[in-house]
Amino acid sequence: MKILLIGSGGREHALAMKLKSGPVPVELFAAPGSDALAELGTCLAYPVEDIPGITAWCARHRPDLVVVGPEVPLVAGLADALRREGVAVFGHDAATARLEGSKAFAKDFMVRHGIPCAGSRTFTALEAAEEAIRTWDLGLPIVLKADGLAAGKGVVLAGSPGEALATVRAFMAGQFGEASRTVVLEAPLVGMELSLHVLVDVDAGHAAFVMLPPCQDHKRIFDGDRGPNTGGMGAFGPIPFLSASDLDRLRRDLVEPTVAGLAKDGLRARGVLFLGVMWTARGPELLEYNVRFGDPETQVLMELLDEDLATLLLEVAQGRLRRDSVKLRPGCAITVVLAAGGYPEGAEKDVPIALGAPGGVKVVHAGTRRTPAGWVTAGGRVLNLVATAPDLEAARARVEAAVAQVGWPGMQRRSDIGLRALNHAKAGRTVGDAF
Ligand code: AMP
Repeated sequence: MKILLIGSGGREHALAMKLKSGPVPVELFAAPGSDALAELGTCLAYPVEDIPGITAWCARHRPDLVVVGPEVPLVAGLADALRREGVAVFGHDAATARLEGSKAFAKDFMVRHGIPCAGSRTFTALEAAEEAIRTWDLGLPIVLKADGLAAGKGVVLAGSPGEALATVRAFMAGQFGEASRTVVLEAPLVGMELSLHVLVDVDAGHAAFVMLPPCQDHKRIFDGDRGPNTGGMGAFGPIPFLSASDLDRLRRDLVEPTVAGLAKDGLRARGVLFLGVMWTARGPELLEYNVRFGDPETQVLMELLDEDLATLLLEVAQGRLRRDSVKLRPGCAITVVLAAGGYPEGAEKDVPIALGAPGGVKVVHAGTRRTPAGWVTAGGRVLNLVATAPDLEAARARVEAAVAQVGWPGMQRRSDIGLRALNHAKAGRTVGDAF
């Protein structure tokens, strides 16, 4: 199978390794790819947003499947353009990708389809937003969201009305260009956050979905959830204390109304929806939709999935998904992100990486470059170590042993990925208990 993968990060390296490891032989291309992806296939020098360039390449080379990693090209209409060429694409149409591309659109969708979520209001005029903040009675923090894509920086949890006023003024003055001229103000949700990935195939007269195991990401840079937010410093799955009835609740409260809503609104969906969920005292509530796989959750999910990924993604891309579950490996998977010095504000680049022998643990490349002398750092998140084991405690131990084998001066990483969940499970607590 000839597959073109769009993207260049750790998520794409993990997808590529999984695509290449199945029984179906895969000829892999990546745009733009990376030095690590070049070891698995051929890299094409198209930036992810070069829709004409990628479409022209596909018209000439006729891949059997295109898998789109990041959200930006989906929101810009890459999948639509490729489908017009008759190419099978794992990735949503632009109209559906608005679920991630516009927070206001997503909130409207949630409310119209009865999906539990935080109360919110959308503003385009500064005076009205300022007035809403001055009279705010929904509790602190005040959650402010830039409407459009802001590279993961468009959500601010303001601890005071003063901070909220400063934030909304900066947003509406164009801090993220057009993306922040419309702002959503939202009530705070308290609880345990989880990442729920669902493969969805919705088209006229047909709606199928498959839930993948819920994972947990760790957004803050430092242990104990301290320090600034990052793209994600580590993840694990499944979550040990989530019961079968908890999974049913996620399906009933969030996933089924989402899929029904897509069908009702005539939104074609052929890809993955990643639901950011807060499990509150009232039950699961939806924080946001993402229209692509999470990074680093993908690194975990690819270890748990016991399926040929190419076959599965092609089923979705061709609108042939008929199954409602996938085979999973028993046990737990964990990934620890090794980040560059200076991250997340910046990243120290071109630092040589010592890659020892992290026995039995997968090394996913997120931001590296190959030189004649070896691998060097080339991004904020540099490597992801991925371990599997029968349970979370053993997986943590395995990845910790591997971390000691890899490193470079200034490397940052968290040592408590999965620890809070492990302690929660050991104490016999459930998802309903304070996390
Ligand atoms: P989002 O991109 O909407 O998921 O927001 C990014 C992060 O902000 C989430 O992963 C949450 O940790 C946090 N967040 C978003 N909305 C809320 C909310 N209503 N209450 C509390 N935290 C939130």
